[in-house]
Amino acid sequence: MTSHSHDHDHDDHDDHDHHHDNHFSEMQARVKALETVLTQKGLIDPAAIDAIVDTYETKIGPRNGAHVVAKAWSDPDFADWLGRDATAAIASLGYTGRQGEHMRAVFNTPETHNLVVCTLCSCYPWAVLGLPPVWYKAPPYRSRAVIDPRGVLEEFGVTLPDAKKIRVWDSTAELRYIVIPERPAGTEDLGQEALADLVTRDSMIGTGLAITAGGTR
Ligand code: FE
Repeated sequence: MTSHSHDHDHDDHDDHDHHHDNHFSEMQARVKALETVLTQKGLIDPAAIDAIVDTYETKIGPRNGAHVVAKAWSDPDFADWLGRDATAAIASLGYTGRQGEHMRAVFNTPETHNLVVCTLCSCYPWAVLGLPPVWYKAPPYRSRAVIDPRGVLEEFGVTLPDAKKIRVWDSTAELRYIVIPERPAGTEDLGQEALADLVTRDSMIGTGLAITAGGTR
């Protein structure tokens, strides 16, 4: 499979060397065509497919990233390595990008919250988060995450203190980000597997927080 680079017509982006994820578009078109034919023939239920895709988006795909976060929370040496060379630290757990794209881990702190977007298309860290959610690829998120990150977070149900700074990171095909959320209080006794269960997909994009111990978010 070859990767294509596309020219963008955006006025607000100049020397940003940016490549689309369009190498999947032919496959996506084939999948869509197959789904349409099978649905018309009454062989599949589109709702069942949606449920499967949702499972991959929110549960199976992001488990790799949750493992990375849980290890960073439990192992200071790993966290340090992740901060210096996320590509290598993540690869050491067996997770590598499809085209060798680089990873950067951005750590939430009491002072700073990190939010990831791809303003031009939908660059996403597939190796650690799986399939991107539909909203990540949608123009409203892509534009508003930059213009009004605090407002976007509110819509995701995340209200941050005014004093907390929000940093927005713009992904490209060459460099993709994973947010390392803050470790919830009261989780000192939890092992890595239990910690990983607190790490949601959205918390690694920055549109959510880790689930607090015994909480629902
Ligand atoms: Fe992109």
